[in-house]
Amino acid sequence: MIYSWQSGDWERLQQLRGHWPHALLLHGQAGIGKLQFAQHLAKGLLCESPHADGQPCGTCPACTWFAQGNHPDYRAVVPEALAGLVGPAGAADKEDAKADKGDADEGKKTRTPSKEIRIEQVRALLDFTGVGSHRGGSRVVVLYPAEALNVAAANALLKTLEEPPAGVVFLLVSARIDRLLPTIISRCRQWPMSTPAPQEAQAWLAQQGVADPAGLLAEAGGAPLAALALSQDDNHALRDWTLGQLAAGAACDAFACGETLQKLPVPLVLGWLQRWVYDLLAERAAGRPRYYPQSAAALTRCAANLEAPALARYLKAVTRQRAVENHPLNARLVFEELFLGYREMFA
Ligand SMILES: [Zn+2]
Repeated sequence: MIYSWQSGDWERLQQLRGHWPHALLLHGQAGIGKLQFAQHLAKGLLCESPHADGQPCGTCPACTWFAQGNHPDYRAVVPEALAGLVGPAGAADKEDAKADKGDADEGKKTRTPSKEIRIEQVRALLDFTGVGSHRGGSRVVVLYPAEALNVAAANALLKTLEEPPAGVVFLLVSARIDRLLPTIISRCRQWPMSTPAPQEAQAWLAQQGVADPAGLLAEAGGAPLAALALSQDDNHALRDWTLGQLAAGAACDAFACGETLQKLPVPLVLGWLQRWVYDLLAERAAGRPRYYPQSAAALTRCAANLEAPALARYLKAVTRQRAVENHPLNARLVFEELFLGYREMFA
């Protein structure tokens, strides 16, 4: 299935039928459902009796295999850490996949699953694209997220994109095309994906049983799936505590932040900090926070005591940390330094 806000993208994409590009780069904001869209598109391309609008029929052998996760002409390539995302469709199956993975991981807990797409994965893909189609139709590869390709893997893929095997369709999915090799981008047809209008996204979140659709959607920058993930995240209390520290301005206790937050994933905390600082800048520029409208009063108070150039420099420092956030870091030291830097802006 695709999400309701994607039907426009789906219709526009069908205009490519007849001259379908061998590589399509679906890109857009994180948390809007690009991966699900790509998977549904793959199913439509493999379906043996698709509807006139390109939708898969859901009942032919190809659709059945696809739903079971074993269509012989389909491959999904994701980092090991995201393997659970591309299991067979359906929530129950996803749960099974998680459970299986848990069993498989018994006894090798010391190794963290890779967040990169590695060259071995791309080489395995080349073996797949090198043989003919099993069903006589297209073969389809979904690669997600494309920015996770490490340099060696990207270069290996590039060779294939430069001399595409007949009948193979690559669907690359990315939230960060600024991190892709320009040579990869230039070999793909770029396809920007829509972020839904706030009203539509809020209505969808309400249908999912989310209690505060407007607040969470704002915090997620307008991306509904990201907002849904926030609603299911157990760290609400710590986030509110952190926002309280930030709201305290000159009284922010950087060492308490280091101590309290050190067990949390670094990207999570940096995301809170980055959104807060972004909101301080937005407050100064337009008097309207984007991510934390519920903290508008504290943001106004803090922004009044800050200089825009210092804020911009600080945001850069946070962004620099985000670039290395997936590398092993001493979380406590990183947080202490950033929260100290924050407090110093008020001095
Ligand atoms: Zn079908």
